[in-house]
Amino acid sequence: MLVIMKAHATVEEIQAVCRRIEEMGYKAHPIPGSMRTAIGITGNRGPVESTALEALPGVAECVPVSKPYKLVARELKEDPTIVDLGDGVRVGGPELAIIAGPCAVESREQAFTIAGAVRAAGARLFRGGAYKPRTSPYSFQGLGEDGLRILADVRAEFGLKIVTEAVDNDSLELVAQYSDVIQIGARNMQNFSLLKRAGRSSRPVLLKRGISATLDELLMAAEYVLAEGNYNVILCERGVRTFSDHTRNTLDLSIIPAVQRLSHLPIIVDPSHGTGRREKVVPLSRAAVAVGADGLIIEVHHKPDEALSDGNQSILPSQLEQLMNEIRQIAAVLGRRVAGGDAQGRGYPVERIRPC
Ligand code: PEP
Ligand code: MN
Repeated sequence: MLVIMKAHATVEEIQAVCRRIEEMGYKAHPIPGSMRTAIGITGNRGPVESTALEALPGVAECVPVSKPYKLVARELKEDPTIVDLGDGVRVGGPELAIIAGPCAVESREQAFTIAGAVRAAGARLFRGGAYKPRTSPYSFQGLGEDGLRILADVRAEFGLKIVTEAVDNDSLELVAQYSDVIQIGARNMQNFSLLKRAGRSSRPVLLKRGISATLDELLMAAEYVLAEGNYNVILCERGVRTFSDHTRNTLDLSIIPAVQRLSHLPIIVDPSHGTGRREKVVPLSRAAVAVGADGLIIEVHHKPDEALSDGNQSILPSQLEQLMNEIRQIAAVLGRRVAGGDAQGRGYPVERIRPC
């Protein structure tokens, strides 16, 4: 059930409706929009008795929600959600957000070298795992909190926002302390206790699609986070498993317009895990921007052959720079722009970088 407030409803009227919903034993989620506020209701097992709510001042109408998810649905919020990370860095809306960096933080020197290249190319967000979910228990598992400290130093030195993965409830608390965005990986997309914990965090969440998850399952996973009160969720298509064996996964770009039809949440694309092959990352990045993605998350390494994880799918800094130039042009055709870079659309020279 959604309570749609009148365009001129006052703050007091909205608060009174929320109070009434809570008195009925449910949770109220007021979501302001450009035209009017809608209030989502969760916690009800059956239909909500709407007559009492409809009678309250400022209420335009009560409408049943037709989808199993409520808070992520466009029905609740027509305007696209823009996740604001501060310092002019946003995910969603007209600007494209580019997140780039290594699969894993391996050392301070490695992270700093790559971060310099990422910032010089004009990206504003840095990725790098300190906790790595690996298929083999014998593979590099990440530097843990030491890796998070390095990421915090990258932010201070280069003014980049930090995106890094939490693999369980313990790492989530630490990741939330050090990062700007908590990444929940494909393998954890349906780890419901982790999703609920992320929903109680004040940090935005990057939620990656599970390797065999349907669109509805992805949206329901995001719903877990929003239902706990964290509305800053960024979805990510990172490829699904199919019979195709020319790539590591099959990048399902058709999910981008499908998500945008159903949900107000931003959705970005990971062409690195989506293809698993360096030479395919650039063409699929171009395609992702063309199809309307709100951004990209790309693995970059200055010595990919020596990388401790995912070297095969990491592009070189020079490729990132070239790619940024190309996607600026594709974005312009679509009336969008790439956040970051100077007036000519070039990246920031490294000497000019000051921490935000
Ligand atoms: C990653 O981003 O390095 C990662 C492990 O991603 P995914 O969860 O999509 O496999
Ligand atoms: Mn990786």
